[in-house]
Amino acid sequence: MVESPAARAPASPPGSGPSPVQRALRKLGLLRDIDFALYLPMRYEDETRVVRLVDTRDGDLAQIEGVVVASEVTYRPRRQLLVTLDDGSDTCILRFFNFYPSQQKQLEVGAKVRVRGELKGGFLGRQIMQPSVKSAGTELPQALTPVYSTIAGLAQPVLRREVRSGLARAVLDETIPQQNLPHRAWGLRDALTFLHYPTPDVAMATLEDHSHPAWQRLKAEELLAQQLSQLQARRERASQRAPMLDAVRTPTSLHAQLMSVLPFALTGAQARVGEEIARDLTRSLPMHRLLQGDVGSGKTVVAALAAALCIDAGHQCALMAPTEILASQHFGKLVSWLDPLLLERGLRVAWLTGSQKKKERDTMAAAVESGEAALVIGTHAVISEKVRFKHLALAIIDEQHRFGVAQRLALRGKAVEGMEPHLLMMSATPIPRTLAMSYYADLDVSTLDELPPGRTPIVTKLVADHRRDEVIARIQAQLAQGRQVYWVCPLIEESEAMDLRNATETRDELADTLGADVSVGLLHSRMPTAEKQAVMASFTEGALQVLVSTTVIEVGVDVPNASLMVIEHAERFGLSQLHQLRGRVGRGTAASACVLLYAPNEGGRVGEAARARLKAMVETGDGFEIARRDLEIRGPGEFLGARQSGAPLLRFADLTQDALLLDWARELAPRMLDRHPDLAQRHVDRWLGSKSEYLKA
Ligand code: ADP
Ligand code: MG
Repeated sequence: MVESPAARAPASPPGSGPSPVQRALRKLGLLRDIDFALYLPMRYEDETRVVRLVDTRDGDLAQIEGVVVASEVTYRPRRQLLVTLDDGSDTCILRFFNFYPSQQKQLEVGAKVRVRGELKGGFLGRQIMQPSVKSAGTELPQALTPVYSTIAGLAQPVLRREVRSGLARAVLDETIPQQNLPHRAWGLRDALTFLHYPTPDVAMATLEDHSHPAWQRLKAEELLAQQLSQLQARRERASQRAPMLDAVRTPTSLHAQLMSVLPFALTGAQARVGEEIARDLTRSLPMHRLLQGDVGSGKTVVAALAAALCIDAGHQCALMAPTEILASQHFGKLVSWLDPLLLERGLRVAWLTGSQKKKERDTMAAAVESGEAALVIGTHAVISEKVRFKHLALAIIDEQHRFGVAQRLALRGKAVEGMEPHLLMMSATPIPRTLAMSYYADLDVSTLDELPPGRTPIVTKLVADHRRDEVIARIQAQLAQGRQVYWVCPLIEESEAMDLRNATETRDELADTLGADVSVGLLHSRMPTAEKQAVMASFTEGALQVLVSTTVIEVGVDVPNASLMVIEHAERFGLSQLHQLRGRVGRGTAASACVLLYAPNEGGRVGEAARARLKAMVETGDGFEIARRDLEIRGPGEFLGARQSGAPLLRFADLTQDALLLDWARELAPRMLDRHPDLAQRHVDRWLGSKSEYLKA
C-alpha cells in the first residue's frame, strides 16, 4: 500500500500552476497527507486566558484585552506604529514595525482588542513588540494552541487548517511490529493526535517534555527511518563497482613527479590521509570518503595527489568547487603544479564553468570526451548533461556541503559504463562524531588534524560597532606594513539588493576614510563573473589593498598577504561561517588578526546565542572545537526547536539525548530489513519520501 500522493493541497484552477499557498507548503516539504501529519508543532501558545497588566511581570508572554487610547505613526528611530493600550488595570505600549493600513485601522483609538506577546520594560513604559492582535471578546480556546514553523506566504491559521485535514486523511497504520516498539512508546495515531491537538487538560510542561511517550514514539520512528535508509544505502553500495586504480608508483609516475615539484613537504596528516585514499582507490568498491580538515590544513594538495593516482592508472578525474571564484582561485595552484606534467604526457586540464563562451566550452567538452583532458576542473558545469567523460574514475568535490544532492548524484552518473566513480568529498566544516555516526554511517572519514608548519595563530578581537575608529587605525597599521585587508559586510536577510547597496556604501566610506593612496575594491555575488574574477585577481596581485566583500569570499580564497579581516555585524553570522571567513587570513607567515565588529541592540546587548558564538570565536581557533560548540549552540536541539536547528533531517530526535533510542533503532534496522522488507520500505518512504536520497548521496 502506498500513501496517497500530492493531491491534497487546495487545487488551483487548471493551467494556472501551483497557488502561493501550495508553493509555500511544498517549500516546507508538505506534499502528501502523511507529510502534514508528521509536521508537528514547533511550540504551543496559551491563548486560554486573558490576564490583567498589573498581574504580569516583564518577560511574561501575556494575553491582554483592552481599549486603544492612543495610536500614532512615528519615524524615529524608524517607521513604526505606536499604540497605547489600557486594560483597566494599567497601560502598555504596542509597537509595530511592519504594519498594513488594515492593521492601523484595527488599532484606531477606541478599538477594543486582544493582544498577545512578550512584555518588556522600556523607556516609554512597558511594551510589547509586534504583538498578535485579535478583536476583543471572541471566545477563548479551551486548550493550548499549536504553532507550526512556517514561511512567508503561509499564514499560521492556514497552515494549521492544512495540517488538520492532512492528519485526518493520512493512512497511519503501524509499520513497526508491536513487539519491537520501544518501551512505553505510544501508538502512532495517538501520539500524533496528542501533539497536534492537545486536549484542555494537557499542560504546557507536558507537551514540552520530550521524554513524554508521545514524543518518544516520534523520535523512535524518525531514528528508525534514518537507520533503515542508511542500511539500504550501504547494502546497495556494496553491490556497486568502481574502476580499480592500482597503477604502479614508479619515479616517473605523475604522482611521484607531483611530489617532487611541490614547494613543501607534506605534513604527517597529509601523508597519512593520502595513503588512506590511495588504498581506497585500488579497490573495486567505490570510495565514499569525506576528507575533513580545518581551513588552511592543506586539503587541495591531498586532492591533487589523489587525482595524480587516478591519471597514472589511465583514467580521468573531475574536481568541482561550488563557485567560479573558488574554482579559479583555489585550483589555480593545482593547475600550475599539474598542467606542465600533464602536457609532457599529451594530456591536459580542462576548465568548465557556466560563464564560459560556448565555443570554449565546446572545445573543453570535446577534450573531456576524447580523454585528452585527464583532469576536469570547474563548477557544477562539469556535470552538465552535455559533458561526457571517456573514463571518469574519480570525482572530487570541494566544500561538499555547498553542493546539492542532485548534483552529487549526477556526478556519479558520469562514470565508466556500468561503474560508479570513486568519490572524495572535502569539507572544512568538520562533523562532530555523534552526528557523523548517525548521518554518515555510509561514509568513511579522513581527517587532517595538523596544520602546515609556520602558521601563526590568528588573534581574534571583539569590538563594539561604535569603536570603528580603532578598527580603522588597525587597518592603517597593516597597510603601512604592506599587508592587505578584508572587510566583510553583514548579511541582510532576504535582500541581495540591500546587501549590495550596503557593501557599496561601505566601500565608498572606507575609501573616503583611508584616503586616495589606498585602493579599496568591492566583491559581491551579484557582480558578473568576469568582474568578480578581475577584482579577485587584482587583490591577489596586491593592486587592491582592501577588499570589501559580502560572504562570497567565505570558502577557499587564498591570498597569503592578507593579514587582517574585519567582519561587520558579526553577531548575524553563524559560528561555522565566521570560522570559515576568519580562515581567509593567517595563510602566510605574518601575524594575522580578525576583528569581529558587533552592534549591541537597544538594550546594549546581543542575543544569547550570538554572544555564545562570538565568545567561541575569541576563545578558540580550532575548527573541531568550533564545530562542537556550534552543535551545542544550535541544537540538534531540544525538541520543540529541533526543526530549526542546523541539523538536517532529524526533526525530533536529539542524538546526544536519545542515545538509547538510537541504539534501539540501530539494532532493529537490520532485522527489520531482513524479516519485513515491505514494512521497512514503507517506513522509510513515509518518513523520508523523496528526501531519502539525501542519505544515500
Ligand atoms: P584548505 O584545506 O583550506 O583547502 P589549502 O589546500 O588551500 O587549504 O592550503 C592552504 C595553504 O597551505 C596553501 O597556500 C597551500 O599551498 C599551503 N600548504 C598546504 N600543504 C602544506 C604543507 N604541507 N606545508 C606548507 N604549506 C602547505
Ligand atoms: Mg580548500
